[in-house]
Amino acid sequence: MVVGNVPEAADFVVIGAGPGGYTAALEAARRGRKVMLIDRAGESGVGGVCLNVGCIPSKALIEAADLYHRAVHARDLGLPVVNGPFDLDRFHAFRKRVVSGLADGVRGQLRAAKVEIVAGTATLTDMHVLVINTPDNQARFVQFKSLVIATGSLPVELPNLPFSAHVLDSTAFLEQDALPEKLTVVGGGYIGLELGTAAAKLGASVTIVEAETALLPTMPDVLGGPLHRRLSALGVEVQLSAQVIDFDGVTVTVRKANGEHTQHLADRVLSAVGRRPNTPDLGLEMVLGNRPEGLLAVNPDRLVTRDIAAIGDVTPGPALAHKATAEAAVAVQALCGEQVAFEPAAIPAIIFSDPEIGSAGLSHAAASEIGMQAQRTRLPLGVSGRAATLGAREGFAEIVWDRDSGAVVGVHIAAPHASELIAEAVLAIEMGVTVEDLSLIVHPHPTLSELLTETAAQAHMQGETT
Ligand code: NAD
Repeated sequence: MVVGNVPEAADFVVIGAGPGGYTAALEAARRGRKVMLIDRAGESGVGGVCLNVGCIPSKALIEAADLYHRAVHARDLGLPVVNGPFDLDRFHAFRKRVVSGLADGVRGQLRAAKVEIVAGTATLTDMHVLVINTPDNQARFVQFKSLVIATGSLPVELPNLPFSAHVLDSTAFLEQDALPEKLTVVGGGYIGLELGTAAAKLGASVTIVEAETALLPTMPDVLGGPLHRRLSALGVEVQLSAQVIDFDGVTVTVRKANGEHTQHLADRVLSAVGRRPNTPDLGLEMVLGNRPEGLLAVNPDRLVTRDIAAIGDVTPGPALAHKATAEAAVAVQALCGEQVAFEPAAIPAIIFSDPEIGSAGLSHAAASEIGMQAQRTRLPLGVSGRAATLGAREGFAEIVWDRDSGAVVGVHIAAPHASELIAEAVLAIEMGVTVEDLSLIVHPHPTLSELLTETAAQAHMQGETT
């Protein structure tokens, strides 16, 4: 504690008002705790990156871009041809309405729960005290009983490609006032694929440069095929094992893994090479004895100390909003003295690419590595009548299952609405459902959901005959 500053007493403090932080604040308030929620941006930070400048506005753009692209190419379906330009100003108005409507909803919930929202940057000064540096340069000292750190992450900036008016992170990309004509995307991960595909559908000439040997290098490799074929149909050039080493505002210079250099033109670069935990200002050295370099190690109950928990992108595991939200409940319970653990059998990963990707549980390789008699069964999207009516051809569903028990241990889908379809797979994995169980569940026809049950039936038959 700093001498001369008598801290005010607080019960339950949360730092960061993103999906993890606001969920923790609401859950703590529901349990009768008096909650203070601190965010750099105060009220306007409610919803965090995900709601304000990430998941939500990007999905609005992806949807609009897909609709535009389909409308331009819908002659075969009997629609009049759309040949006007995409109206970016109207889209921005729509995006802002969507975001503010949702953020207002969360602010309303926080108000109803009597959560105090404080604007400022919070830094720990000892195990139970933090200082909030407010936007009007005041230092407000707070002594807390319980604390949740939910400060999220920031985009990684490449040293040779600093962010600028022409080198954008995803936030700046979503707020551009003109569409790029020639876009280079650095990083073939979540953001690169989602926004690169959207830009291509809006008419940009897109090049994706990925350092690893495959797109989505952290996901099961089977998912790459449909993505490559569809990107190629959209005219997107994919350069693998390649890194951008320079961009002078006009020319992008790429170095391939074999040392070869190539150049191409671009008017904008989207840099999407990952995110880093937002921990530097937190004063964690006061609590941990040393300043963590990267992610904050947490116990299964998300506690860092008896009275401090951490959740979301600052902790190990996928940097996904739904992980942070699920961890929030566990952290609050732990801080309220309950024995809990965050141990999901599967955290789904979804990518709003074309086709969409939904992946949960183990890949075939990972299941085999842990000694399981892993089987994989895959059906192409072509077997789905519903997919045909949507004009969708690229994709599949794959189930990874344990030969001994028949249990479903992984599901990987590339298909329209895979982001929705994967939820059933998560339920199956969590509940220990077998491929036979899944094959017997009656699914509505004609829907894309049948793809999963038909794949399960195929897997069950395979199990019977081998
Ligand atoms: P990412 O980790 O998904 O992908 C980054 C990619 O950049 C990787 O494929 C990596 O190999 C590549 N890369 C790294 N350095 C490079 C270099 N110098 N040159 C070329 N390629 C390089 O990261 P992201 O796309 O920036 O997204 C950040 C995080 O945000 C994701 O990990 C995810 O957790 C989250 N996110 C989730 C969603 C979703 O759930 N749909 C959408 C967007 C973002």
